[in-house]
Amino acid sequence: IPYTANEERYEKMEYRRCGESGLKLSAVSLGFWHNFGTYDCYETNRAVMRRAFDLGVTVFDLANNYGPPAGSAEETFGRLMREDFSPYRDEMVITTKAGYTMWPGPYGDFGSRKYLLASLDQSLRRMGLDYVDIFYHHRMDPDTPLEESMGALAQAVKSGKALYAGISNYSPEAAKRAAALLREMGVRCLICQSRYSMLDRQIETDGLFDAAKRAGMGLTAFSPLAQGLLTGKYNDGIPRGSRASGKSPFLTKDRITPDVIEKVRKIGALAKRRGQTTAQLALAWILRQETMASVLIGASSVAQLEENVGAVNRLTFRDEELAEIEKILK
Ligand code: NDP
Repeated sequence: IPYTANEERYEKMEYRRCGESGLKLSAVSLGFWHNFGTYDCYETNRAVMRRAFDLGVTVFDLANNYGPPAGSAEETFGRLMREDFSPYRDEMVITTKAGYTMWPGPYGDFGSRKYLLASLDQSLRRMGLDYVDIFYHHRMDPDTPLEESMGALAQAVKSGKALYAGISNYSPEAAKRAAALLREMGVRCLICQSRYSMLDRQIETDGLFDAAKRAGMGLTAFSPLAQGLLTGKYNDGIPRGSRASGKSPFLTKDRITPDVIEKVRKIGALAKRRGQTTAQLALAWILRQETMASVLIGASSVAQLEENVGAVNRLTFRDEELAEIEKILK
């Protein structure tokens, strides 16, 4: 059935200015790390993508290596664009990244100009796009001078193959330097993408929030549900077909400890009192901070997507609730 987007799609979603830029991001972004590869169900992908766009999600986060196999999530996305979304291209923020292993040999990994620019061209071909909205350097490279990696991002922007430059998994120190280098080249460092959730609060204490604010950069949180732990789905064991059931090597069973489950249960009780689900509270808790432009969720079904987007219905917290959360997470 041909797709026509819901006319009310912009009514409920919140859009947040990313750092000091002019670009607004939907408070919830949809990520393609899992669920959109060759072995996943295309009809489910299509339903999730349509529902996301209908609910006002405008940001779609990809990377060269997403799949598996690497590259296949971008191919799926290209098919979705071709079949449903090409009329809506100007209403979408599409991102990709390069920085992890993508092809054999010395030019398919890390942060050289050679790798980053070749990879961007490949990503554009797989997705069937003329440009992406944000091109990220996916991780720091200890061997390539930062000037070179940032020079490649600046060139991507100046050539029109990307509209904005971003960094991911950067330390606060490197993020600061990256932003300054890009600024010298006349390009804004739009955004830093980092892991952040109630169960992983490293960026609160390592100085990244502060570095981003000073540089006028926005932040976006990946794995905001700790890959599903913060939905409560593991409270009574590991459900069949879930990420921890072995579908992916990234959420290992040893991370599901009694201590974590105890915390998630308590968060769930508070969520219930607020009229939210555990997942919705976990996302709202991240979004209460204004430097956080968007949370980057994953969803393997339309129901998960709907639940997660529902977080925007209640983003504020009373001081007592925040104090209770601190006590639970201690
Ligand atoms: P989440 O923490 O949101 O975990 C998503 C997974 O949790 C889903 O695939 C699903 O897995 C489960 N889930 C989500 N919502 C629900 C729900 N409401 N009820 C039950 N289960 C649910 O994020 P991800 O770890 O997937 O990361 C999100 C995105 O962040 C990625 O797609 C990617 O775009 C980006 N990212 C970036 C990285 C980087 O280095 N820059 C690294 C990692 C991610 P299942 O159903 O299979 O159990």
